[in-house]
Amino acid sequence: TDTDTADEAVRATCDDATTCKRFATSKGYWNDPYIQYFARSVGERKAPEINRGYYARVQGVNLLLDAFIRKTQCDCQVINLGAGLDTTFWRLKDENLMPRKFFEVDFPTVAARKIHNIKTKPPLSKPIIETHSTDSLLLDAHSLESDRYCIIGADLRDISSLDEKLKKFHLNPELPTLLLSECVLVYMTSSQSCNLVHWAAETFHTAMFINYEQVNMSDRFGQVMVENLQRRQCTLAGVEACQSLDSQRDRFLKTGWEHVDALDMMTVYSMLPQDDVTRIERLEFLDEKELLQQLLQHYCICWATKDKLNLGNAHFVF
Ligand code: SAM
Repeated sequence: TDTDTADEAVRATCDDATTCKRFATSKGYWNDPYIQYFARSVGERKAPEINRGYYARVQGVNLLLDAFIRKTQCDCQVINLGAGLDTTFWRLKDENLMPRKFFEVDFPTVAARKIHNIKTKPPLSKPIIETHSTDSLLLDAHSLESDRYCIIGADLRDISSLDEKLKKFHLNPELPTLLLSECVLVYMTSSQSCNLVHWAAETFHTAMFINYEQVNMSDRFGQVMVENLQRRQCTLAGVEACQSLDSQRDRFLKTGWEHVDALDMMTVYSMLPQDDVTRIERLEFLDEKELLQQLLQHYCICWATKDKLNLGNAHFVF
């Protein structure tokens, strides 16, 4: 059916993210010793502005994520929604920033692929086994559960099933919780993504939701981005919420979140630690600075908080 084709195109986007991250790390933009196990080869060369864009995305999200984990002294849980083949769990383990439990949700077929990679690659499975206290890991085709790491196959558009599965895998609504969605909400209709962020606001009293995705999509450059994805059968069903930073904030403000900030990636890029920015800008020559600016202006990070435990998480800044 059309829906199956559309969902399949959306599932395939996780490989784009992985190959771009693998290429950028091969050039030295940042370090990720685990991404090689999820992307078979370094692949085609990517343009320098793409690499810088991924650098800004990864650094920007990591700064907020790490700040939240530090504030809670790791006494928290993380839920990566639409996690794809993301490697954050292993980074946090290596940096001694592991939350009490790290959950990932993606479509069952994507979850199954990730679990297969983990099972067959010792550098991926070792940290999971090391942080697990008993002999028996729960492992089946579409889910993995250890003490500290959990992969769940579920459709994020079906909230009751998502909620049920997370509870089955011992989600604790009382713990401070960080929810993350990177290039995920844009593939659902606005009402579906509103339901998801509303569910999160209702479920947790102390939480931060970090969303990274497209913004300013109504201008000419934004239209071209939409058309490029459509050519690959990928519909940005949620593009209305990507019209402006205000529409990004509204989705959270109207669903029960207390405090919301949103910055376009051009601004985030200018706020990242500048010594490292100087370092990466020397890695590859960038001819067209304007192209990078345009690209960065069409992505944003939006973060929303609820803070019953008074972590002070409303004041996270770069
Ligand atoms: N967040 C990862 C990253 O940044 O590397 C992956 C990003 S990829 C562009 C989008 C991911 O969202 C895909 O893995 C896709 O399968 C997942 N996704 C999109 N819609 C979803 C849904 N309704 N339910 C579960 N996963 C979904």
